Amino acid sequence: MTLLVVGSVAFDAVETPHGKVERMIGGAATYFAVAASYFVSVRLVGVVGEDFTHDDAAIFRGRRIDTAGLERVKGLTFFWAGRYSPDMNDRTTLRTDLNVFADFQPKLPEIYRKSPFVFLANIQPALQRSVLQQMGARPKVVALDTMNYWIEGSNAELRELLRDVDVLMINDAEARQLSGEYNLLRAGRAIRAMGPKMLVIKRGEHGALLVEGNSVFSVPAMPLDKVHDPTGAGDSFAGGFMGSLAAAGRVNSASLRKAMVYGSVMGSFAVEHFGLERLRHLKRPEINARARQFKKLTHFNL
Ligand code: AMP
Repeated sequence: MTLLVVGSVAFDAVETPHGKVERMIGGAATYFAVAASYFVSVRLVGVVGEDFTHDDAAIFRGRRIDTAGLERVKGLTFFWAGRYSPDMNDRTTLRTDLNVFADFQPKLPEIYRKSPFVFLANIQPALQRSVLQQMGARPKVVALDTMNYWIEGSNAELRELLRDVDVLMINDAEARQLSGEYNLLRAGRAIRAMGPKMLVIKRGEHGALLVEGNSVFSVPAMPLDKVHDPTGAGDSFAGGFMGSLAAAGRVNSASLRKAMVYGSVMGSFAVEHFGLERLRHLKRPEINARARQFKKLTHFNL
């Protein structure tokens, strides 16, 4: 089953306690697409500028990623710069240059309009809505990511959009902000009342929670002895989650739980190196082996 993603393709500058990179490929849709392409075929909608070269586009080549929906327009590609705290739990945005992203109007190629699985990465809610409006038929699963900026600044648009979303994937701080509830289970309940049937709360090094109906499923984050760059962990989680779900082709308790584990698996690979360096060179057996490690990590007898 194919999976459509709409979001940022970017150049990032990142500083962590392990080093500094002045310019590398990033963007929420890039992390998502590369992670998900290990599971299913991905269709990418986004925009880049003239500075995005044939070599840069190599990140998408040789994988199951269709870039017919990636526009190249006059101007510079979206640029983001961030610095992490010494424990890497906090990050400061140093610069956001929207560049060609400022006038971005997603346009879905005809064939994309029937994609059964859709991920609306973190962009302006009005653009996320325009993607849903272009879909020919109601997708089987629509998942959405957002951030504090839109929760504050575009609350009404976001709330309206949430009525049409199946899975909201956000971090714990965003879940608290959106719901006004500190307790995550209460926050989950309040958010589900806004529309999404399911809520995935990403909690960084504390793993992730799936809140669905009255049930809660929890996966840990993989304990790692090297974390070099947390950038893109959330989007890679989302790529593993949606990729696994789309590969299963149906949504039930078993496929959702498996998707949570593959989300954690892809998030754990993303942080091992700067940018996409680890994700782009992965081999499928490594993914399977890490999923088995998760099983071992959490298995016990009663
Ligand atoms: P994450 O670490 O999962 O939050 O994602 C980081 C990625 O999001 C980086 O590669 C950035 O290029 C991209 N990004 C940062 N700010 C924004 C924004 N305002 N809109 C869209 N993408 C962004």
